[in-house]
Amino acid sequence: MRFTDSRLNRIQDKISAGDRLTFNEGLALYDTRDLLGLGALADAVRRKRHGNRAYFVYNQHLNYTNICANTCLFCAFSRKEGEPGGFTLSMDEVREALAQRADEPIRELHVVGGLNPALGLGYYLELLETIRSARPEATIKAFTAVEIDYLSRTSKLSLQETISKLMAAGLSMLPGGGAEVLSDRVHEKLFRKKIDAGRWLEIVEAVHRAGLKSNATMLYGHIETAEERVAHLCRLRALQDRTGGFSAFIPLAFHSKNTALSHLPATTAFDDLKAVAVSRLMLDNIEHIKAYWVMIGEKLAQVALSFGADDLDGTIIEEKITHMAGATSAKGLSRNEMIRLIESAGFDPVERDSFYRPVAGATVPGKETSQ
Ligand code: SF4
Repeated sequence: MRFTDSRLNRIQDKISAGDRLTFNEGLALYDTRDLLGLGALADAVRRKRHGNRAYFVYNQHLNYTNICANTCLFCAFSRKEGEPGGFTLSMDEVREALAQRADEPIRELHVVGGLNPALGLGYYLELLETIRSARPEATIKAFTAVEIDYLSRTSKLSLQETISKLMAAGLSMLPGGGAEVLSDRVHEKLFRKKIDAGRWLEIVEAVHRAGLKSNATMLYGHIETAEERVAHLCRLRALQDRTGGFSAFIPLAFHSKNTALSHLPATTAFDDLKAVAVSRLMLDNIEHIKAYWVMIGEKLAQVALSFGADDLDGTIIEEKITHMAGATSAKGLSRNEMIRLIESAGFDPVERDSFYRPVAGATVPGKETSQ
């Protein structure tokens, strides 16, 4: 296939030769107006890796507190101590939240929260142990690098000691958040109190070296430039070359409602699909690219499966963080709804666990699921 944008032809030749794309080529991909050409390039790479398979996980989100010492301008989730709407779950409330879904085949608990100064390492260890005893068969994917840094600092333990205590209590994987955009300029303007790019990369490297997989994300659609987006992808790619610890990359579309940046418009479908396709092409060493339906909507996530994404994330059940920032997507989807979204986009659904192993007996009969 040849494209109207000659830059895409050159990039296609490089991909066919197995060559890595450069920073400038990443910029060209973001700059092109040939969205369908960009999508075709990303789709070819996606199909080479995953064929016609599209993954999803049966998961549950658990936000243990939204009290937070930080003041990130893009956040609609956090509250100060004593502010209306603030919450911190007791262990009884954690058990209750899990018990409400006890009859569902949940494979993964996604657990994140704010930096609540009232909570020490003991709370986090108890939280993990409580989840593990209620859901021994599920993977606990918990705490971003921001929370790991907070725990290490407040407990005065080294990063390695902090991580190993969490692992002993049940931590099995890290989600990808907290980096936002790996740019000192954006950090200074939007999330000065949160860890910076260097510390985020240092923590994630330590997590990977401890033997845990993590995801990686990029929050886009606020004040970041195309150069900063591509630099973010290149920094993740360089870390992945060293550790191999990233499982999936998830572009996160910014939602501004109820934040200090509420004057900013929503991302467009053009931008959302580009974010998926460019990441598929630049991140040649990260196996999976997710179209996170909560942020871009179920319908566009379905389209994104043909623009480089191979995973729709999960059923979720009660997403809070993005809905507090104005997301209009559903708060959760059933397994049948996930399967319908994937099948009607022309792909074969594969229900997976946190590590992309197909869940026995849960996939579509007669369709190939091995990877
Ligand atoms: S994004 Fe996270 S660290 Fe920042 S204010 Fe919100 S909860 Fe706190």
